[in-house]
Amino acid sequence: MDLETIREKLLEKRNQILKSLEESAKSDINEKTGVGDDADTVTDELSRETHYRLTQADRETLYLIDLALRKIDSGIYGICEECGAVIGEKRLEAIPWVRLCIDCSQNEEIVRQFQQRNEEEMIYNIIPPTLGEEEESSKNLQAD
Ligand SMILES: [Zn+2]
Repeated sequence: MDLETIREKLLEKRNQILKSLEESAKSDINEKTGVGDDADTVTDELSRETHYRLTQADRETLYLIDLALRKIDSGIYGICEECGAVIGEKRLEAIPWVRLCIDCSQNEEIVRQFQQRNEEEMIYNIIPPTLGEEEESSKNLQAD
């Protein structure tokens, strides 16, 4: 694996993100100075939300790229942070700033999905199944 090629790839992507962040910062200023009526405010809020998420993702990638560049310098590039295995070359070519080997990233994905599902279930289970009985017994208490 040619580390110099990877470094170049990382730097190229880094510049690309910095450029797009810079441009979105410019459009932010334009939005703020522009005068819109109430109907526009809602769509503005939505686009700002999407925009925020996009820049968040960009910033995250930027962070990962910097991390990868530091790893190249320290000679630990291409090693999984979770299990220490050597990450596959094809995987690194596809995503040069990847932190985990394919196995660990799949595990992480499963954990993430599991957590997400638990959160959803928690929302649906706000009403405890015993509530009916409790109401019943509290009525009895009041009757006494
Ligand atoms: Zn791993």
